[in-house]
Amino acid sequence: MFTVTPVRAFSDNYIWLLQEAGRAVAVDPGDAAPVLAHLAAHGLELEAVLVTHHHADHIGGLGALAARFPGLRIVGPASIALVSEPVMEGSQFELFGCRFEVLEVPGHTLDHLAYLAGDRLFCGDTLFGAGCGRLFEGSPEQMHASLARISALPDTTRIYPAHEYTLSNLRFAAAVEPDNAAIHQRLVEDQAVLAAGRPTLPSTLANERATNPFLRVGVDAVVSRAAQQAGARLTTPAAVFAVLREWKNHFR
Ligand SMILES: [Zn+2]
Repeated sequence: MFTVTPVRAFSDNYIWLLQEAGRAVAVDPGDAAPVLAHLAAHGLELEAVLVTHHHADHIGGLGALAARFPGLRIVGPASIALVSEPVMEGSQFELFGCRFEVLEVPGHTLDHLAYLAGDRLFCGDTLFGAGCGRLFEGSPEQMHASLARISALPDTTRIYPAHEYTLSNLRFAAAVEPDNAAIHQRLVEDQAVLAAGRPTLPSTLANERATNPFLRVGVDAVVSRAAQQAGARLTTPAAVFAVLREWKNHFR
């Protein structure tokens, strides 16, 4: 089974590097330089790239990597010019002898994909540790549906988002649910993890369902806090999601 290592890029991106027996696959290489440095340091050959969506901090390194590794497989949405293997909902492919499944999860962007390999989900800017991506292109209904799909995966699913936003997301989560002990416990634990220079990710779906307000839009305490924030009764989970997402945009 392949291992997964975070390669840091920009101020808070993670380029997840999947590796096994000298071969590597990079997820969302927004910058080629840290990927090339990691490959050289560990004697790895890059054989494929997975792309979740078209934002520059996820695709900026594609050109340089394709030039350095001729024939590089670049798997991603058809909307991205450098993608050599366009995939969509229901597509499947193999890497390291493992089956990868493609989920369309629109909301952050309309072309956003997630990749599921066994119990590991590479979810780009859709689901973050204790949070979710901003809605640049999709509607709250679309993003809520995408997150609900992810949330229906098994408890043990490990999630690999593309940014280290967990701590600020947990501060928002604590404002939404001041009485949720799991949020406070995760805040303490992840502060220590970051202070030790380690990533707070991957997390598990069980942990996200316990602490991530955007996966908890059906919980009574979250519904009533969102209604209070909106000053209106909220009758659907998507309406609760929309209020939380808008609130988070301005939360400091
Ligand atoms: Zn993005």
